[in-house]
Amino acid sequence: MYLHEIFKHNFRPDHPALKYHGRKFTYRELEIIVEKYAAFWQQKGLKPGDKVLLVSGNSPEFIFNYFGVIKAGGIIIPVNMGLALEEIKYIFGDAQARFVAIQEKIWLSLKDRFPLPKDMVIVLSEEFTNELINADLKFTTPEYQEVCTILYTSGTTGFPKGAMLTHENLLFDTDSVTRFAEVDENDNYLAVLPLFHSFAWTACLLAPLYTGATSTIEDGFNPKEIGKVLVEEEVTIFLGVPSMFIFVLEYLPKEAFKTVHLAVSGGSSLPPQYFYAFEEKFGIPLIEGYGLTEASPIVTLNPRRGPRIPGSIGKVLPGMEVKIVDENLNELSPGEVGELMVFGKNVMKGYYNKPEETAKALVNGGLLTGDLGKKDENGYLYIVDRKKDLIIVSGFNVYPTEVERAILAHPAIREVAVVGVPDGVRGEAVKAFITLKEGYETLTRKELSEFLKDKLTAYKIPRYVEVVPELPKNAAGKIMKKLLNGEKSEN
Ligand code: AMP
Repeated sequence: MYLHEIFKHNFRPDHPALKYHGRKFTYRELEIIVEKYAAFWQQKGLKPGDKVLLVSGNSPEFIFNYFGVIKAGGIIIPVNMGLALEEIKYIFGDAQARFVAIQEKIWLSLKDRFPLPKDMVIVLSEEFTNELINADLKFTTPEYQEVCTILYTSGTTGFPKGAMLTHENLLFDTDSVTRFAEVDENDNYLAVLPLFHSFAWTACLLAPLYTGATSTIEDGFNPKEIGKVLVEEEVTIFLGVPSMFIFVLEYLPKEAFKTVHLAVSGGSSLPPQYFYAFEEKFGIPLIEGYGLTEASPIVTLNPRRGPRIPGSIGKVLPGMEVKIVDENLNELSPGEVGELMVFGKNVMKGYYNKPEETAKALVNGGLLTGDLGKKDENGYLYIVDRKKDLIIVSGFNVYPTEVERAILAHPAIREVAVVGVPDGVRGEAVKAFITLKEGYETLTRKELSEFLKDKLTAYKIPRYVEVVPELPKNAAGKIMKKLLNGEKSEN
């Protein structure tokens, strides 16, 4: 099976596959429209292996075009539409794209600053889809390549690299996660996470299409609007990143989740107090998972019915393996902290045109994730932190996540990010950036230290605290720590 055939796995011709603001597409309609898009690309001159940049918010057109390009034999490269133009241009050049498919409203705001030959640009809109539906276009099956998409990793810490994923990578991950999560064709997923990101693409779109379920698409996260959508569309599966759960807890009443029977968090670490608060308020299981673009992306999940362990990323999905390894790639024993290494058919082919980076990431048939963690005796995995975020204070390891969790127990604090700042004496010092909940004006370092003194060893307690109105996040909801490694300003 190829990725563009995923909706044939449980093909339900008259069942809604996609819903988007009053527009509804059944599985049969989806199949027809994807074929029209594929035929359009062939007519446009797309050859197998040609690359198409896709710049669009969540919309049916994003999905039609994604599958259409792949069905025509091309490679689709969805990019984060929130990127600065220079970053989009970088990806365009790095990927050697031949075409750009771009949502109309984005094109209108970019076109003067992004001069491209007219025939390289395809402007996506509802009208464009309607024109294709009525057009007389003929599709011929091309020769398919192994790779079907290149996803530029979010770049929260480094320069973006294009992870090449194959048809098999994505189908394998989807099959594994849907079986483990025990989802079925009666589900209706909310797809509000940005679909250009691997977590959203697999969890909010491929999973429902593979199982014959429905994906309800939204193109922006406004907690109150989302509350309405959940009720009106009778959503059953809510997927979010931790910051969305924080908003949902603060702004939505219990009734908003009355049809939802499963919530899934991923993308970054979910602080246990939000796990408890969510399950208590809404009475729904909240399962945390872990993954990364290079692994298509989901690797672990807490079991839906078995014990869900707050603070754990759950168990490895069927058909995959996670080893915890030391610097020499020797496997460590339960409880010992090392780097997570992933094995399975979900592991990417490599980084596009970056053999050295690929050789560093793909070693002995596995993927080195750059994440530090441990395994317990029962096979539950825990992320301790990213390897590159580790702070070393006077030779002692400080894992920012541990400090962040302790700080979040403070009643005034909404969100926190802990980073290391250079320190002449200690090498590095711990600094916390915090945002406060409504009704709180300020919090000093002294107050925070007092609060933490029984919870953390002295060297882990932040020497610097800065209250900020907001933490910088990328469009996938991850805190951009590289933008925070600023001054040591103290209060
Ligand atoms: P991306 O490739 O953009 O999906 O980013 C993947 C990275 O997000 C991983 O390497 C982890 O560092 C982080 N991540 C994803 N899920 C979790 C989680 N549940 N807990 C902690 N970190 C996570």
